[in-house]
Amino acid sequence: MTVRGRFAPSPSGRMHLGNLMAALLAWLDVRSQNGVMVLRIEDLDPERCTREKAAQLVEDLEWLGLDWDEGGLIPSHMQSCRGEIYAGAFERLTQLGLTYPCYCTRAERLAVGAPHREDGTVVYSGRCAGLSAEQRQAFERAGRKPAWRVRVPDEDVTVEDGHMGAFSENLRRDCGDFIIRRSDGAWAYQLAVVVDDALMGINHVVRGSDLLSSSPRQAWLHRVLGYEAPQFYHLPLLTDSTGRRLSKRDADLDLSVLRQRYTPEELTGRLAFSAGLLEEYAPVSPRELVSRFDWRKVPTGDLVVKEA
Ligand code: GLU
Ligand code: ZN
Repeated sequence: MTVRGRFAPSPSGRMHLGNLMAALLAWLDVRSQNGVMVLRIEDLDPERCTREKAAQLVEDLEWLGLDWDEGGLIPSHMQSCRGEIYAGAFERLTQLGLTYPCYCTRAERLAVGAPHREDGTVVYSGRCAGLSAEQRQAFERAGRKPAWRVRVPDEDVTVEDGHMGAFSENLRRDCGDFIIRRSDGAWAYQLAVVVDDALMGINHVVRGSDLLSSSPRQAWLHRVLGYEAPQFYHLPLLTDSTGRRLSKRDADLDLSVLRQRYTPEELTGRLAFSAGLLEEYAPVSPRELVSRFDWRKVPTGDLVVKEA
């Protein structure tokens, strides 16, 4: 079976080192298996994503030497243009009796005692799962705009991650009914990513471990919508040499700064060295790494970004 992978960046800001690591390894995973690379722009959030940032992102990928075979800055691969497709999936979930409006305010969702996930987000209590028609109308009359949630079963879902191994979650206890449409009408990431990965024929998803905890939800949604879930490969998180986690908040690691400091080959060499693909640091192009790529070389613990 042909490997079909994707880059799925969100143009809400400039790419940073973590996005680049995911992009490089997703590209190597595809190119080392003569697969097909898809570029999808995840610009669902109209407040944070702009066309200019999306164009910058595409240019940054080109600068690094990463290419793709399908997609890009075209409506068929931009989530902001795919609302009707998500609406169709939402309709199917509704017909299955799995959606309901949630009128909770932020304060209500975060009420004391609400269980938290490991990533700090709250497990939804199910407060609106059984509202009567009268209760819904009362909220509507009070001017509250609902978000829409999908009802999850009390079920353990295990994802066999191609790199990190098995990861399980009980959807009811560890995740809770999750939002698939926001109260401002925007489609939620969890729904869009599943629909798009399925319809774009994606069978390999390579991305950062910050999304590992989303994978049981997504595997379940794939199943409910009648799709086959892709094989997931989650990458360890990046740290500096003192063990501190690197994040988007480290402004000096975004590409506007990195491009002034390094050539594409120097940056690729640094990423490849940190990911275990080079025994010693050396400038290298993504192409030159294709024959060296092997998931078994990539650590499963934190990836330490070493100073070159
Ligand atoms: N758009 C997401 C991000 O940039 C990635 C989604 C995914 O890989 O599933 O963080
Ligand atoms: Zn609610």
